[in-house]
Amino acid sequence: MNFDLPERVKSFVEQIREFVDQELIPLEPLLLQAGFRSLLPELETKRQWVKAQGLWAPNHPIEYGGMGLDLMEHALVSEALGRTPLGHYVFGCHAPDAGNVELLHRHGSSEMKSLYLEPLVAGKIRSCFGMTEKNTPGSNPVMLATTATREGDEYVINGEKWFTTSADGAQFCIVMAVTDPEASKHLRASMIIVPTDTPGFRLVRNIPVMGHAGEDHMSHGEIQFENCRVPVSNRLGPEGQGFLLAQERLGPGRIHHCMRWIGICNRAFELLCHRAGHREIAPGTALGTQGVIQAWIADSAAEIQAARLMVLHAAWQIETIGAKAARNEISMIKYFVAKTLQNVVDRSLQAHGALGMTDDTILAFFYREERAARIYDGPDEVHKVSVAKRFLKPQK
Ligand SMILES: Cc1cc2nc3c(=O)[nH]c(=O)nc-3n(C[C@H](O)[C@H](O)[C@H](O)COP(=O)(O)OP(=O)(O)OC[C@H]3O[C@@H](n4cnc5c(N)ncnc54)[C@H](O)[C@@H]3O)c2cc1C
Repeated sequence: MNFDLPERVKSFVEQIREFVDQELIPLEPLLLQAGFRSLLPELETKRQWVKAQGLWAPNHPIEYGGMGLDLMEHALVSEALGRTPLGHYVFGCHAPDAGNVELLHRHGSSEMKSLYLEPLVAGKIRSCFGMTEKNTPGSNPVMLATTATREGDEYVINGEKWFTTSADGAQFCIVMAVTDPEASKHLRASMIIVPTDTPGFRLVRNIPVMGHAGEDHMSHGEIQFENCRVPVSNRLGPEGQGFLLAQERLGPGRIHHCMRWIGICNRAFELLCHRAGHREIAPGTALGTQGVIQAWIADSAAEIQAARLMVLHAAWQIETIGAKAARNEISMIKYFVAKTLQNVVDRSLQAHGALGMTDDTILAFFYREERAARIYDGPDEVHKVSVAKRFLKPQK
């Protein structure tokens, strides 16, 4: 098997990695001390540089101003960008906009494309995706309770959503709502675009996550819909196809997430090695002389390597045999990489002692924000059940 990369790919991945290290990582102290919003003017300047270099929106279609990279190529870019929480935003490929762009590109009407898709890809507006509800299980979304009742040419939406990432400041939300309560369970819901200035749409709060409510793009909103009316033409795809569309987002989105997590692992690993090499625990004796720390380094290196190869293999499977045939691989990387992420960040934080608990390094941010990796995009346990069921099927 040949692991070489084409020169073109090597060159832009290296360029992106250098930019992340030299221009974005130095902004992290400000992010940690003053919050995301305070960085917006600086980030806009960085975005202009990225656009000028032709590196903007690497995963989005060329006709909308993106680089049009394929899944494998973007996986490598996502790894380089994941080294900092600012990477994907500055390069215009951040969640949840990236998934919404894909939905609009595949299923949007021409009006939706000019109203929402074009400014979204250009980074002029932001969006959010509202499926999960506090009182119904996100792990089994066919039970969702938010309704969109048809009245003439309009849907009237009522219900509550939460953990709607980046709702704060978003111009529109793609909402998953029940359009036909009588239909079979996978045909009950549809995806509907709701501009956030529509009467009846209310951002109740940014939900504190381990004590930090965040703001703007870096936040998770609780949203209330009260007799919120939008035209029926705001529906994405045919009525009742909401779950099918959600499923479509899964494969490629998973690769982007997992490679971002690998980027975080790489960064945490470098910090672990630096700390081990430089922290004296006795005169002239570095922390890294201790067997227990060496084992953390060795285990982390092997786990990251294994996780990375699994994700790249899954991306290759999606591109060669399709997402449906690759569903085991797509599920396995979810829980394997999320656990690797947690292991590596935890070891690195531990090696930093009290410093690891502060916001003087990026580790505490990763620890608190990325614990959720085992929960969102389908909790690990749900993926494990699916994988195990497929392996058990022949045993019946
Ligand atoms: C940081 C963050 C960002 C998010 N962003 C978004 C977003 O932008 N839009 C959006 O719509 N949602 C978002 N979510 C919500 C996320 O998708 C849900 O939290 C997730 O689907 C789990 O749903 P739940 O929280 O309702 O947990 P539940 O469904 O109540 O499950 C709770 C736990 O039960 C266990 N469990 C569940 N089912 C099974 C099973 N079959 N077998 C064994 N164990 C099981 C798992 O351990 C699971 O963690 C986000 C969540 C987080 C934390």
